[in-house]
Amino acid sequence: MSDFDPGDVRLPGGHFIGGSPVAGGQSDIEVNRPSDGLLLGAVPDGDADLVDRAVQNAHQALQDSGWDRRPPRERARILRRWADLIDEHSLTLGRLEAVSSTRPIHDCIRHEVPFTAEAIRFFAECADKYSGDLLPTRGGSLGLLAPEPYGVVGAITPWNFPLSMASWKCGPALAAGNAVVLKPSELTPFSTLYLAELAIQAGLPAGVLNIVNGYGASTGSALVRHPLVRKVSFTGSTATGAVVMSEAAHHGMKPATLELGGKSPQLVFEDAGDIREVAGRIAKGFTSNAGQACVAGTRLIVQRRIAAALVEAVAEEVAELRPGLTWQAATRYAPLINGRQADKVHEAVQASIAAGARALTGGGFFEGTGGGFFYRPTILTEIDANTPAVRDEIFGPVLTVQVFDDEDEGIALAGHPVYGLAAGVHTQDLGRALRATRALAAGTVWVNRYGRTHDFIVPTGGFNGSGVGKDLGRQAFEANLRHKSVLIDFD
Ligand code: NAD
Repeated sequence: MSDFDPGDVRLPGGHFIGGSPVAGGQSDIEVNRPSDGLLLGAVPDGDADLVDRAVQNAHQALQDSGWDRRPPRERARILRRWADLIDEHSLTLGRLEAVSSTRPIHDCIRHEVPFTAEAIRFFAECADKYSGDLLPTRGGSLGLLAPEPYGVVGAITPWNFPLSMASWKCGPALAAGNAVVLKPSELTPFSTLYLAELAIQAGLPAGVLNIVNGYGASTGSALVRHPLVRKVSFTGSTATGAVVMSEAAHHGMKPATLELGGKSPQLVFEDAGDIREVAGRIAKGFTSNAGQACVAGTRLIVQRRIAAALVEAVAEEVAELRPGLTWQAATRYAPLINGRQADKVHEAVQASIAAGARALTGGGFFEGTGGGFFYRPTILTEIDANTPAVRDEIFGPVLTVQVFDDEDEGIALAGHPVYGLAAGVHTQDLGRALRATRALAAGTVWVNRYGRTHDFIVPTGGFNGSGVGKDLGRQAFEANLRHKSVLIDFD
């Protein structure tokens, strides 16, 4: 892998409807490069008419191609071919992602692109391994539980992991026989458009996957409300998720899978083991993608006896991180997506300091990084539990530290009144690990590790304000099917 010139990257344009790029919309949405803030390109802002065109097209494509009625093995074959093409186009896709998102090229090539392909492969494997059921009825009739795809699924994705988020939505929906209309984030639309081009090359019938660009409140909302969209799959913030769920309910009572925000704790007991190793997990947990990850472990809750040593070790770990342009091969530390996000992060940190917290590291931007917004990894100690930085999702590289004395106190501090996405528990005591795991309201609990492993068989999804339903795992596949009860009398 080597550095590349961002000017050499070809940007797909338009929307993607019926198997080809399509122009249309009232105006353009300008897309900037997070690394230096310069203009990268533009996509058209799709309106309700374009959403209607894309959804009608998807609906018709299901009738014409019979995608929903094809043998699952055939759908699986096309999806596997798609995954292979993603791997074959890894460099192009990786560069596209690196130039337009916060993900450095190293991460794109090593993780983002291969994991996108792997997720699609996983769902291809699900396609023919699921069947309905034969129901033991009272007699005289044959009872069947018949799974069926919904029809058109409306998918909406965020900007922080554009490619993999698209694969988590499209993979299960398409494998189950649905058509998909996807609206990517207006901040990072390009790699998703390229992904759709590859799907057509792989043999996906034209129209079965359509992409419409646009803003959330207009285009996204029109997609959720469209009467031919029978299921919604959304990833984004909890506030937007609530709007989407309500609109999905009010416009046809359609089921909505919602993957939302988090404020995940890292609960470290004094018997956690090697301090350096634990510090590595904590550091990575809140600095990966500069904290712009739903599962970022941003609340360190540590037992008093090891608190000072652990916090110092985490500070040493993050001191190594250096900013760099996302198209440079050596870059490991991501920029924030834009100035608005940068302001939000900095304001939260400054408000915490003003309220009495101490910034042990960070507290401001790296200098000399041009027009990009690179925030220094920030550890806030001596912070009051009621400070917004402890409560709210900041979506930046900010770790708050709280200290506890006994197990019950630690578990209580790790709880959150709103979010329940993920949690880390670090202890060598199995009983304690299990007690903490049981007590924590979180969709994923990692014990003596932190972060996803890209085991696609493991579902991901939040409890409480962090979401409804699961992405990944066979649960995500099954959520793209509805079940019809059929009773056939034969006496
Ligand atoms: P966001 O909620 O602002 O936007 C997400 C998507 O929803 C975008 O495509 C946006 O255009 C669209 N949107 C906005 N308003 C809409 C509306 N009224 N109707 C329909 N669509 C609308 O989130 P973001 O800033 O793009 O992403 C960051 C958030 O996503 C964070 O909260 C993060 O935790 C969350 N996230 C969650 C997961 C997960 O798996 N739980 C994964 C990644 C990101």
